[in-house]
Amino acid sequence: MSPAKALSLDAAVREVGGVASMPTGPGRRGGSPVHELLARRLGVETVDDLLHHYPRRYLDRSKTVPIRDLKINEEATVIGRVEKTSRVFTRRRQAMVTVIIRDEHRGVLDLFWFNQAWPFRRFRAGMEVMAFGKLGAFRGRLRMQNPTVDVLRGDDGESIHVGRIIPIHPATEGVSPGMIRRLVHDALGRVALADPVPPDLRPADGALGRGEALRAIHFPEDEVQLSRARQRLKFDEMFTLELGVAFRKHRVERETKGVAHDLSGTLAKRFLAALPFEPTEGQRAAIAEIEGDMVRPRPMNRLLQGDVGSGKTVVALYAAMVAIQSGHQAAIMAPTEVLAGQHLLKVREFLAPLGAYEVGEAAPGGQLALGDGRPEPELAYALLTAAVTGKERQRVLDGVASAGIDLVIGTHALVQEGVAFHDLSLAVIDEQHRFGVHQRMVLKEKGAHPDVLIMTATPIPRTLALTYYGDLDVSILSELPAGRQPIETRLARTDAERQRSYDLVREEVAAGRQAFVVCAAIDESNRVEVRSAEAEADRLATEVFPDLRVALLHGRMRPAEKQARMAAFRASETDVLISTTVIEVGVDVPNATVMLVENAERFGLAQLHQLRGRIGRGAHRSYCVLFDESAEENEEARARLAAMVRTTDGFDLADEDLRLRGEGTLFDVRQSGMPDLKLARLAYDAPLVKRARTEAFALIEDDPQLERHPDLRVELERRFADAIEWLFHS
Ligand code: ADP
Ligand code: MG
Repeated sequence: MSPAKALSLDAAVREVGGVASMPTGPGRRGGSPVHELLARRLGVETVDDLLHHYPRRYLDRSKTVPIRDLKINEEATVIGRVEKTSRVFTRRRQAMVTVIIRDEHRGVLDLFWFNQAWPFRRFRAGMEVMAFGKLGAFRGRLRMQNPTVDVLRGDDGESIHVGRIIPIHPATEGVSPGMIRRLVHDALGRVALADPVPPDLRPADGALGRGEALRAIHFPEDEVQLSRARQRLKFDEMFTLELGVAFRKHRVERETKGVAHDLSGTLAKRFLAALPFEPTEGQRAAIAEIEGDMVRPRPMNRLLQGDVGSGKTVVALYAAMVAIQSGHQAAIMAPTEVLAGQHLLKVREFLAPLGAYEVGEAAPGGQLALGDGRPEPELAYALLTAAVTGKERQRVLDGVASAGIDLVIGTHALVQEGVAFHDLSLAVIDEQHRFGVHQRMVLKEKGAHPDVLIMTATPIPRTLALTYYGDLDVSILSELPAGRQPIETRLARTDAERQRSYDLVREEVAAGRQAFVVCAAIDESNRVEVRSAEAEADRLATEVFPDLRVALLHGRMRPAEKQARMAAFRASETDVLISTTVIEVGVDVPNATVMLVENAERFGLAQLHQLRGRIGRGAHRSYCVLFDESAEENEEARARLAAMVRTTDGFDLADEDLRLRGEGTLFDVRQSGMPDLKLARLAYDAPLVKRARTEAFALIEDDPQLERHPDLRVELERRFADAIEWLFHS
């Protein structure tokens, strides 16, 4: 090896000693070079990536057992030197590989693999290995079958200094943990590791410096040092994440131009006065916060969180009125046709007293077109979804482009090419995907720096709102409108419990109420053992409730058909609506008081919470029954359902969901390009999040461009490499 040159953190892994000469793994003659496999399979491209590729587990030499002390049928770890490797084939050409190892107490053990050829090439005489497995015996010899084996020292005698504790890094085919260990060791020896975090911000009490911590997490001397290293690096990753969030938020608030809306108009005030109810305290507070944002000449980036039924739509419409009275346009984008249709109903109801026009064929009272001779209205609105086609679509598109239409409600159809706004100044996005908040940019681009209001259909866990969505301002509707009755939730596992829930449906219908039954799949051809909506509709209609009016709704129906069945249910023309999860988000039928969920164990918490939110929306007491077909040992499903029974608070459930599933499932975080967390856990590290956030925001307030903290600025750009646009420009 040539004398080691100093390495920069941004250098390619290729530059680390020995990569070029590394074999490309068992049986892969002419396979990809190691650095390519590292990049492609493990996302490790630079030295910095390599140093942040933390061990997945550690082997502790002091916990190994001399071979002579092993007991048959027990699991143990041994260290030994490879004496001989041999291979034979069965008559059916299956390889059997035996690797004989001897330990320093002269114990001998056979490591044995059946029908796997690779160990023959992988382990060579002279190597020192550590093997973990269950001890057996064969023809008088001790044997471990299919053990886990790690190479500690190569057959060239070259060893890297490893202490008592040996790191096992996540590896991939063609790149073994041993190879990665050598690379990390080499890189650590050649890279200068400064500590970019100012001394007064570093975690106190005997904390390690950045360089020490990085060394120790890969090659710890003992458990205590390892745990201190993790503490330090955990803080650093959270601090850097918050620093990026603070940096962007500060920039957006200072730099960008936006629309300064006019609060002196009367439209918004008349809208509030005409509502058929009094806004809640929470709605008033959110409205005040939104007005504060909208009047300022910079774009609003606000997240409106409120539990199902808390009345977010009214708040959004108020914001739309502010945009319109200021001479601009507003758009509300919903995730589904059903929801967009429902928003339209609310808009009709709330805006009728203001003399608003609806543009479109379905408009009530024949309020059809613009330019039909009547005077230009103060306010015109329209629906735009995939179901709006032909001449009608053209009329809506023209109205949106010419400002004849002030408010448009729609689905993703709104962000298609060919939809051009005259002057969009408010984009409201009613979220479909759980945490899919980063997709907000699409609608935003239909205007020049419009204000953006995002409404989450499900509350976001507190720690998530402070990190990955930490650049947004948040308004929370914490109370439900007055007069709502609590929802009683119970589980049903037995036939008797099922029968009782059917009785409940019958009683409620007799009292004039309605019920939902939700099933997982739509037809029997879906071969899983779940109750399907179609079959269940049949069964309930003919066997269980022959005397009630039962209807079916599922996602494969044509939009017009769906709308028609929803309308019939809303008008109380049907008693029981059996559906798939198309009714999951937002459907609003205050007279419905029972929700039965079949195979509830198959639904996620967010989804269950959404489903339950379909009831309890009126003045009557409501009931949710979750049919649970899970096996008793399915602990996660049981925990989910128990949480549903315990609380109806969406924020509690969101936190619980994060605990049960971890942040690995937050796909949107990955899409955003923001750095992911390797050590910190949002579900458990709330105090750390708060501390890192406070310090990062204080630092940015004091030094917004990080001019006095150049190392931190470099670190920021490195960690946010995949989100540079977001950080500096968009
Ligand atoms: P979500 O926050 O789930 O979107 P909605 O905006 O759909 O909630 O409101 C739920 C229901 O409550 C709607 O029927 C709405 O008209 C009604 N509502 C909203 N605000 C109030 C209020 N302040 N008082 C009474 N009912 C309200
Ligand atoms: Mg809503």
